Amino acid sequence: MPNTADAVIIGGGVMGCSILYSLAERGVSGAVLLERDVLASGSTSRSQAILRMHYSNEVTTRLAWDSLPIFVNFHEIVGVSSGYTKTGYFVIVGPEDREAMEANVAMQRSVGVDASLVTAEDVREIAPMVETADGEAFAYEPDSGYADPYSVTTGYASAARERGARVLSGTPAIGVEIAADRVAAVLTEDGRIETPIAVVAAGPWSGPFLRSIGIEAPLRPIRHQVIMLRRPQDIVPDHPIIGDVVNDMSPRPDVGNLTLIGVGEDEYAEPDSFDQGVDMSLVEQTFEKLASRMPGMASALFRGGWSGLFTTTPDWHPILDRVEGIDGLYIAVGFSGHGFKLSPMIGAVMAELITEGQATSVDISSLGLRRFEEGRLLRSRYSMQVLA
Ligand SMILES: Cc1cc2nc3c(=O)[nH]c(=O)nc-3n(C[C@H](O)[C@H](O)[C@H](O)COP(=O)(O)OP(=O)(O)OC[C@H]3O[C@@H](n4cnc5c(N)ncnc54)[C@H](O)[C@@H]3O)c2cc1C
Repeated sequence: MPNTADAVIIGGGVMGCSILYSLAERGVSGAVLLERDVLASGSTSRSQAILRMHYSNEVTTRLAWDSLPIFVNFHEIVGVSSGYTKTGYFVIVGPEDREAMEANVAMQRSVGVDASLVTAEDVREIAPMVETADGEAFAYEPDSGYADPYSVTTGYASAARERGARVLSGTPAIGVEIAADRVAAVLTEDGRIETPIAVVAAGPWSGPFLRSIGIEAPLRPIRHQVIMLRRPQDIVPDHPIIGDVVNDMSPRPDVGNLTLIGVGEDEYAEPDSFDQGVDMSLVEQTFEKLASRMPGMASALFRGGWSGLFTTTPDWHPILDRVEGIDGLYIAVGFSGHGFKLSPMIGAVMAELITEGQATSVDISSLGLRRFEEGRLLRSRYSMQVLA
C-alpha cells in the first residue's frame, strides 16, 4: 500500500480504469486505483456493451462518436483488442416517436455521425430477418456494434500500470479525508493514501459513498436484465443490433450464435443484494416480442441470462464534475445504463478536467452536479430513457 499518490481513483470499473489510463497518458503517472473487489466486477461485467451513436442530446452523441475510433483502434492505442465487432444498429420507433427520431438523426448528422433515416424496404434489404409494421420509423448506423467490457477495462488498467499507475484490487476506499476544504487523503482499511486528488467512479455504490463524505447526488440503481438465446443458425445466422423502442428491448448478436436481449422494468435495486438472475415471466414476454420482430427467432433456445445495475440519474445522463467547495474531489458517476460506449472519452474529459481545469475535447459543462437543483435536465426524446 503506497502512502502517497498523485491521484486516487475509487472504483475499478470501465470508468475508473479509463480515467486512470487517461491521467497516465497526460503525465499523471503516480496515480492509484482502488477496487473493492476485482476489476470490472460491478456494472461493467454485466454490460451488453452496445456501441451506438443514437442519442437525444448532442453531448452524449459526441462522447459516443469520439469514443468509437478508440474502440476500433484499441489495440494500436491501448495495446489489446477491445473486441469491437461491427454489426450495424437500427432504431425502430412507433408513429408517435417519428418526429423525435428525425430530430435525433438530424442532430447526429450535424455532429458528423454516419446515421440516416431509412425506409422499411431498406430495413428488409439490410436485415431480411427483421419484420416491420405499418407506421414504424427507422434509423440506421452502419458503424455501430459491440465490444468486450472486460478486455477494455483490464486493457486500460494494464496500459496505465505500464505508464506508472498502481491498481489495488480487494481494497475498498472507506472514506476521503478533507482538510481546509481540500482533499488530503483517501482512507482504506489498510491505511491512508495521501493525495491532492480523489475521483469517485464507484458505479452503483457511488451514492452511499458520496453521502458518507457529505455529498448528495441523485443516483438510483435499477436492475436491468440480459436474456441469452441461442439462434437457430440455419434460419437466423446473424442480425444487426436493434434499439427496439416499440417493444422496449435491445437484441444484439454475440459470438457462438448467441443473441443477448436487454430488457427490464424501472425497478430499484440494492447493489449488494439484488437478484442477479433473470425473471422467467419476462423471458416469456420477451420471447413473444422478439418473435414478432424477428420471426425466425421463434425457435431460439433459452440459454440463461443475468442482471446488472443501471446507476440512473433523474435525466439518465452521467454526472461529470468537480465537487464545489472541496478542492481536488471529482465525480464520474450515474452512467444510467449507457456508459460503456462513452468510456474512452469519459477518461479523456475527466483527465482534462483534472489536469487543465476544464474538459477541452468535448464540452461537458451540461453534465454538472448542480443541473438537478438548477432544473437544467437533459431529456430523452423517447419513452426509452436509455436513448438519452
Ligand atoms: C445489464 C446492463 C447492460 C448494459 N448495456 C450497456 C450497453 O449496451 N452499452 C453501454 O454503453 N452501456 C451499457 N451498460 C452500462 C455500462 O455497463 C455502465 O454504464 C458502465 O459499465 C459503468 O461503469 P462504472 O465504471 O461507472 O461502474 P462499475 O462497473 O459498477 O464500476 C464501479 C466499480 O467500483 C467498485 N467500488 C464500489 N465501491 C468502491 C469503494 N468504496 N472502493 C473501491 N471500489 C469500489 C465496484 O466494485 C466496481 O467494480 C449496461 C449496464 C448493465 C448493468
